[in-house]
Amino acid sequence: MRRHDHFIGGANHAPSSGGTIDRFSPATGEHVASFASGNARDVDAAVLSARTAFDDGPWPRMSGIDRSRHLRAFADLMLAHQERLARIESDEVGKPIRYARQDIEGGAKVVHYAAGLAADLHGIAYPELKPSQIGLVMREPAGVVGAIIPWNFPAFVFCHKVPFALAAGCTVVVKPSEFTSGTALELARLATEAGIPPGAVNVVTGYGVEAGDALAKHPAVDLITFTGSTATGRKVMHAAADTNKRVALELGGKGANIVFADADMDDAIDGTLFGVFHNTGQVCSAGSRLIVDETVADSFLASLKQAIGGIRIGDPCDEDTDIGSLIHAAALDKVAAYVDGSAADGATTFAGGERVTGGSYDNGSYYAPTILDHVAPKARVFTDEIFGPVLTVTRFRTTEEAIALANTTRYGLANALWTRDTERAVGVANALRSGVVWVNTTLDGSPQMPFGGRGQSGFGREFGRAGLEEFTEIKSIFVSTGRRTPEFYGRPQ
Ligand code: NDP
Repeated sequence: MRRHDHFIGGANHAPSSGGTIDRFSPATGEHVASFASGNARDVDAAVLSARTAFDDGPWPRMSGIDRSRHLRAFADLMLAHQERLARIESDEVGKPIRYARQDIEGGAKVVHYAAGLAADLHGIAYPELKPSQIGLVMREPAGVVGAIIPWNFPAFVFCHKVPFALAAGCTVVVKPSEFTSGTALELARLATEAGIPPGAVNVVTGYGVEAGDALAKHPAVDLITFTGSTATGRKVMHAAADTNKRVALELGGKGANIVFADADMDDAIDGTLFGVFHNTGQVCSAGSRLIVDETVADSFLASLKQAIGGIRIGDPCDEDTDIGSLIHAAALDKVAAYVDGSAADGATTFAGGERVTGGSYDNGSYYAPTILDHVAPKARVFTDEIFGPVLTVTRFRTTEEAIALANTTRYGLANALWTRDTERAVGVANALRSGVVWVNTTLDGSPQMPFGGRGQSGFGREFGRAGLEEFTEIKSIFVSTGRRTPEFYGRPQ
């Protein structure tokens, strides 16, 4: 069992109150961590530390190349500590260890990429706005960033935000999820070990309604970047409004996975399963709505069902486990309620549809990979983000119908489609209303490729140059290099 304080100003920081949050593994029930329950005073201390590091410290004033060097050292330390970090992530999230390792490795890659951007932060120069006048469009660090992150990919989402903010020259206060704060604390320690100055990365643990809200409201924070549910994102935006903070929101999703009759069926089957069941379906960009050509639907479903039989559910520590536990018992109840209620909307359970129980499963929150067939666009399981291992199936006749079904959602994060017809692929990709589209692949991400949504999935982008620019302010500088043409003074009388 690991016991943690906050991490403020480059050191462990005892909480101002004695409150703690105990984390029990969602997979085994074992007591794995104890976090400080931060309050507004702890947030104040962390923001003051970040503010001082920004206003007076070396980080924003350092050359981009030096910032880059420290970020690369941080990425290397992440890899050196990969196994330890992955174990913490697996224990707290209930995530299979091999995927936890991938998350750490992927996160380190993102930090390396952000390090490159740090060395290449630039604006635009206009050599001749008019004769003898140049224009400089500068990019400056936005200031103190508050980063609120969720529990499903705690270390990876940390890396969506913190390295880009640091690359831009900002300082950061992170508020991780109450359930999974371990890796954020460890990453902040490693960042300090890598030479990133004390105060540049601070972590306050605690409940969202207390510590998260205090961070969003804090007048000395310049920008809030939030990943989590749409409902909480809205609250964060309200909390940030009184101080006119900039806000970037990465929220929920209800992705479509469209399978055309000409798709490579083996790829489409594997992609469909991975797209919806990876991380026990607790993925904002999951392809949780299968939209399939009616001419191939029955055989496709039969193949999915057969393949589901090979998915190994269970102990996250087991190297062979594919699907671990849901995050907590309440999430399990929520998934079960959606599935149990789906029949009233006309859906039929084609596979799964039940809790996984018996033996060690009773110590965790396990749900069987589930397929719900004949799901109408008005059904709640079609419209709502379930955030569990549940695939809905809806059939289409024409490409237009497939696009309309995919776009029948208030979300707009990511969609996937499977076809061998390049013209159709590009046409459908253009017609889908989402920040990301995958063609013949799914859940792909790369540090170069911006990630983010529209509609109820939020706004703002992470990754890519856009992910760096989120953390900058633009300043336009006009520089006259010649004599002024007089307007009020110096004219011939
Ligand atoms: P929540 O929205 O409940 O929580 C996200 C973070 O916000 C947590 O750190 C939480 O703290 C904090 N929080 C909660 N209430 C407040 C508040 N009033 N003010 C400030 N902060 C608050 O989401 P979950 O943690 O349940 O994560 C699951 C959701 O996140 C899903 O809907 C999923 O789609 C979305 N998500 C989106 C991603 C994206 O990139 N678009 C990526 C990952 C998840 P605490 O844990 O203490 O409640």
